Amino acid sequence: ALKCGIVGLPNVGKSTLFNALTSAKALAANYPFATKEPNIGVITVPDPRLDKLSELVNPQKVIPTTVDIVDIAGLIKGASKGEGLGNQFLGNIRETDAIIHVVRCFDDDNVVHVDGSVDPVRDKMIIDTELILKDIETVEKKVDKFRRTAKSGDKESKKMVEVGDALLAHLESEQPARSFETSEEGEEIVKDLYLLTAKPILYVCNVDEDSFPGGNKHTEAFKVEAAKEKAEVILVSAQIEAEIAELDTKEERLEFLEEMGLEEAGVNRVIRASYQLLNLLTYFTAGEKEVRAWTITNGTKAPGAAGVIHTDFEKGFIRAEVIHYADYVEFGSEAGARDAGKLGVEGKEYVVQDGDVMHFRFNV
Ligand code: GDP
Repeated sequence: ALKCGIVGLPNVGKSTLFNALTSAKALAANYPFATKEPNIGVITVPDPRLDKLSELVNPQKVIPTTVDIVDIAGLIKGASKGEGLGNQFLGNIRETDAIIHVVRCFDDDNVVHVDGSVDPVRDKMIIDTELILKDIETVEKKVDKFRRTAKSGDKESKKMVEVGDALLAHLESEQPARSFETSEEGEEIVKDLYLLTAKPILYVCNVDEDSFPGGNKHTEAFKVEAAKEKAEVILVSAQIEAEIAELDTKEERLEFLEEMGLEEAGVNRVIRASYQLLNLLTYFTAGEKEVRAWTITNGTKAPGAAGVIHTDFEKGFIRAEVIHYADYVEFGSEAGARDAGKLGVEGKEYVVQDGDVMHFRFNV
């Protein structure tokens, strides 16, 4: 499964948000390093289309798709040199596909700030610096291995050193690897380094109840900063989200949202944005037993999509029967769509579209 990591300084609200996202009840405490072990949770991806299909098919079971989320222990200044839980923390980030970076934008004298005051722009810089320092170390180590062979004329080594040195200069000017521009060949080299700052990133400003959804002076300053790297920023009040997550039924949650004058829970927006960040899309299978959403990467062809269900489906793939979501809804059922000529029979080269309702034919 695809994995998002939540990072941020201690006491910014990571665990609170993680709990709301996963509705798990991990320890949220008012002191640094409350989250020692990385917590892995499973987020259910909300999707109104799944509800609609279930309504039409009326299956025994409805299964939404999920993304894994990891709550990563608080980073502090010096982590790249092993301070705090630095190395463990950075290792955990390396294993994720995307990063959700939470910054504190709430004032509350009862909640200790590790650096003394609320300043999300500074906080972001502290984390960026640690990640960039770690990446510099990674690139240096790699490039140094190729310097000698590059000198004696080996073409591949030369390319490696050339790209590596340009990347080092970029990182040393305090820019993340994700904004490094290079040739196609260079991109392959960079990809193989698995750098921390090459991962897609989403910023979450954690605000107090009164600053939601409008924002405050902290979020304004932060948005200016994030705009420089064209990154997306979402405002969330982790505390509101925690309260919503405490409610037992969907009805109670909707009522609460209405009272607050909100259209939907903030966690839904975070989940949707993470899904986009990871370049994911959803296709469906719809039968009487089960209506289910499946996650694939944008651009996946039919056999690969079948492989998400079971590797045998991919190995023995013959063809896929496809109904686009809008057609399925318009004609109300598989049979209805088929009669209307809206069921496509597709082969190995078919690129699955977001919302496709798929039926796979395969050999065992
Ligand atoms: P983490 O160290 O980043 O995981 O932070 P936690 O989620 O454990 O939160 C640290 C403390 O801040 C806890 O006491 C939370 O209750 C509190 N906290 C989290 N979000 C908010 C918020 O939006 N407003 C206020 N006032 N307190 C918050």
